[in-house]
Amino acid sequence: MSKKFKSLLSLADSGVPEEGIIRKVSRGIFSHGDDVVACSPFTLRKCLKIGNISELHDGDIVKIYPDGNIVRLWDIQSFHNCLFVTSVCNFRCVMCPQPPHGEIEKHHQDNLRILDLLEPDSVEVLAITGGEPALFPDRLVEYFDIINKKFPAAKLDVLTNGSSFSDFELAKKLALAAPLNICFCVSVHGDTPGLAESVMHAPRGWDRAMLGLNNLAKLQQKIEIRYVLTQKSVPYLKDIALFFYRNFPYVSHIALMGQEIIGLAEENYSDAWVEPTAYANDLAEAVTFLSAMGMNVSIYNIPLCILPENCHSFAVRSISDWKQNYRAECAGCEKINECCGFFTTSRNFIPKGIKPFRS
Ligand code: SF4
Repeated sequence: MSKKFKSLLSLADSGVPEEGIIRKVSRGIFSHGDDVVACSPFTLRKCLKIGNISELHDGDIVKIYPDGNIVRLWDIQSFHNCLFVTSVCNFRCVMCPQPPHGEIEKHHQDNLRILDLLEPDSVEVLAITGGEPALFPDRLVEYFDIINKKFPAAKLDVLTNGSSFSDFELAKKLALAAPLNICFCVSVHGDTPGLAESVMHAPRGWDRAMLGLNNLAKLQQKIEIRYVLTQKSVPYLKDIALFFYRNFPYVSHIALMGQEIIGLAEENYSDAWVEPTAYANDLAEAVTFLSAMGMNVSIYNIPLCILPENCHSFAVRSISDWKQNYRAECAGCEKINECCGFFTTSRNFIPKGIKPFRS
């Protein structure tokens, strides 16, 4: 056991099990001035060193390990908290930053513990993610029930590949249990089965995702479409914009998203990565078309200086705060507070064309 956290670990009252123990941060924890390791559940196995323990806030939820490491599972001051349901997924998308693994039931138990520790009405925004969360519909129903009771006004995003919702009865069960302020964020990887399946590596994955989208719409659920900009998908940007406009008039939002280079995206770098400078003009054309057609569209994860000026208003500071950063080149940039910056998780995989805005 690490000596520096001995008194901290006494909060656990007894020995800390190998798999860790979950606690809410209380004032006592601030008296420890040593470095800690903290991260989101997204990177549970690739912790990000964030510095001093004083960076934890009262009300955060952490997991304490016997070696003294602390993993932050919930940052009470952030709008980017999520419940990581499972590592399992039925797709193998070429650019997946969170590669699928075998099932670990502990994730579910941890989520229930987090929800139990959070104070009623203390949550404004949260996300449910994986893996593919809808492969475990009973878990989702359990979370929905708790969210409905403890945080009825919270905005909830469920990130999904949509395929499970092709089963209408399953979609109906989840829609009936869903909190009022839910949005199903469904990844769509192309306008044809051939293109989509070359990205997702899942036979009939496109058909099931399309059916899933239509079932969610029939059930009057709020839907966001997410389209990740990869080497495979960007040649069809203008086609995909037309496809979204013609086929999904009911979605509330479309996000066209730059990549995070980690996990399968890093493994498949040469197949997946494309410089944003290479498609920036097509992207601008796609978003201005969708917007002109009355659709609510945004650009995620692409720095402002890479984008043509006519689409700056669509760019969102989308990167979660715990993994967002800027480069040395950004020093003095006048638009730093509007720009999404970069994924720290992408490390040295940095897009070309960074150029600070200066008067
Ligand atoms: S220089 Fe940096 S902060 Fe400024 S727009 Fe480019 S990436 Fe964003």
